[in-house]
Amino acid sequence: MSIQITFPDQHQQDFEDGVTVSAIASGISNSLAKKAVAGKLDGEFIDLNLPIEHDGALEIITKDSDEGLQILWQTGAFVLAAALKELYPDIHFGQGAAIEDGFYYDTDRKDGQVSADDLETVAKKMRELIKANAALKPVLLSRAEAFEMFKNDPFKKQLVEAAGDPIKGYQLGDFVDFESGVLAPSLSVLKHFSLLSVAGAYWEGKSSNPMLQRIYGTAYFKEEDLVEDAKRRQEAKDRDHRVIGRDLDLFFVDPEVGAGLPYWMPNGATIRRTIERYIVDKEVADGYEHVYTPVLANLDLYKTSGHWDHYREDMFPPMDMGDGEMLELRPMNCPSHIQIYKHHIRSYRELPLRIAELGQMHRYEKSGALSGLQRVREMTLNDGHTFVALDQVQEEFKKILSLIMDVYKDFNINDYTFRLSYRDPANTEKYFDDDKMWNQSQTMLKAAMDEMGLDYYEAEGEAAFYGPKLDIQTKTALGNEETMSTIQLDFMLPERFDLTYVGNDGEDHRPVMIHRGIVGTMERFVSYLIEMYKGAFPTWLAPTQVELIPVNLDLHMDYVKELRQKMVAAGLRVKIDDRNEKMGYKIREAQTKKVPYTLVVGDKEMGEAGVAVRKYGEDSTTEESAKMFIESIVAEIGNYSR
Ligand code: ATP
Ligand code: ZN
Repeated sequence: MSIQITFPDQHQQDFEDGVTVSAIASGISNSLAKKAVAGKLDGEFIDLNLPIEHDGALEIITKDSDEGLQILWQTGAFVLAAALKELYPDIHFGQGAAIEDGFYYDTDRKDGQVSADDLETVAKKMRELIKANAALKPVLLSRAEAFEMFKNDPFKKQLVEAAGDPIKGYQLGDFVDFESGVLAPSLSVLKHFSLLSVAGAYWEGKSSNPMLQRIYGTAYFKEEDLVEDAKRRQEAKDRDHRVIGRDLDLFFVDPEVGAGLPYWMPNGATIRRTIERYIVDKEVADGYEHVYTPVLANLDLYKTSGHWDHYREDMFPPMDMGDGEMLELRPMNCPSHIQIYKHHIRSYRELPLRIAELGQMHRYEKSGALSGLQRVREMTLNDGHTFVALDQVQEEFKKILSLIMDVYKDFNINDYTFRLSYRDPANTEKYFDDDKMWNQSQTMLKAAMDEMGLDYYEAEGEAAFYGPKLDIQTKTALGNEETMSTIQLDFMLPERFDLTYVGNDGEDHRPVMIHRGIVGTMERFVSYLIEMYKGAFPTWLAPTQVELIPVNLDLHMDYVKELRQKMVAAGLRVKIDDRNEKMGYKIREAQTKKVPYTLVVGDKEMGEAGVAVRKYGEDSTTEESAKMFIESIVAEIGNYSR
């Protein structure tokens, strides 16, 4: 009996039934055999040394591919568990898996959870196992066998139930596990690994379930890749907005008070207020009318808008007021701005009508997804809705996009791409039902982008349920893609709310609505900026712009206060460090707080109406007249981050 294997280049070859991936690789070349760590048959990973028993499309997974890394990380998870079991025979296991940058295993112990302090011991045990290089044997367990094997392990038992019958697993000595998928044939590939951290993780990700200890690790085939990875992780830590937010006292989130509900401390609030004032001024200058609308509304509003039908799982449950009224926290501001539109009879002369607000909204994000300011449950969106006549869509879209790009320049955001999101043509029933609307609006957005000469990519199936959109994707400091701004067309809400304007023909017409956010939510935007600037905010955003340090508190305080007054009058945010500390210490601390300008003032400066200026990040000090300094910093602030 022979089987037919199709290779990625469509070339086909017959092999004897039961041939292994390893044998096929050897047949092609020695170097391929050396690099191979697993196979992928018809899209599913298979062990290098297990027989192939049917025809299929085969890919050989090698060390230099992403999938090769995945196999390595699956092997890492397995060996981690094997080492833990040897060290702590009473340990229970939850899930273990390869993730995008390494692997993890969830564990639980009655007496003494595995902690970060134990990682060195665990790594040592893993190295012993790897060195012994015992055979890693694929095994096939019947469900009954697996139940028997894991009968004392409460989480594992549930995983057995979900795993089907029989279960493919691996054996190393006495240790058997099926959790992490197909493994590399030999432990020797796992030479360059490290265990990284331990963090709590709820069983099945549900906060009502027990908390397990998730142990993270990573591994690479080459040592230099592991070193590179460690550098990247350190960089990520240094930029982590949650860490910087704590160090600079910008904000906090206390799960005991409310997960995903941030508190902005004065420093963070100052940054946010500066951004809010900036963006409101910018929008008002661009023809927007800013409003304030309530976060609460009658649930019927969201039934009319369709949010209740299509967006409910992201919404907080309604509040039953006991008198028949149901109040809902808004997940979006659109229905509110529609109320503003509807409050008057609108004429074509008023269009485009641009309603904007720093609109607070609430979304019930999953607790596992919450992260600092980056993903929260209460957020304030730099929101706006433009109501236009159909023939104004293209122009208005271009105007909004120009505003967005202008704002980006002020923040010195240069790394972004455009994504035009369409509905999924294979799944149209998921979307608002109007083919003509979809086709027409998608065409208009595309035409506008082309007229502006911008590059973009088109993403089918990424549209909102009410219309196509343009997302502006930025890269975070750590390289992750994130949506910062959006422009979304909507032909549906005007229909649902029966919006009209009186045309110059005297008849009623339906406007088109454009949803747009420029810098997105204050929360996510500030988290982005913290990481981008590593906490060293440009002068116009810095909570404290100037720190004044008198050389001698008795002699120089009056002059310093006088300086502060002048600076405050010029609109600057100034602090005096009047503590009884050494000057060197105060200067260092101002650097730690990343204050853009530290000014030291002693006899010399007082005599010459001057200041000794030290810029953040620089070691040298320059003497300037106080007047010049104020003029130049004010000019710098006026230029934002350009
Ligand atoms: P995501 O895909 O990140 O959940 P979304 O596509 O649902 O976002 P939109 O409804 O387009 O987001 O929201 C508009 C803006 O709100 C976006 O700029 C997005 O960055 C921001 N945003 C959405 N959800 C959150 C959140 N939970 N915390 C902070 N900002 C958020
Ligand atoms: Zn909207």
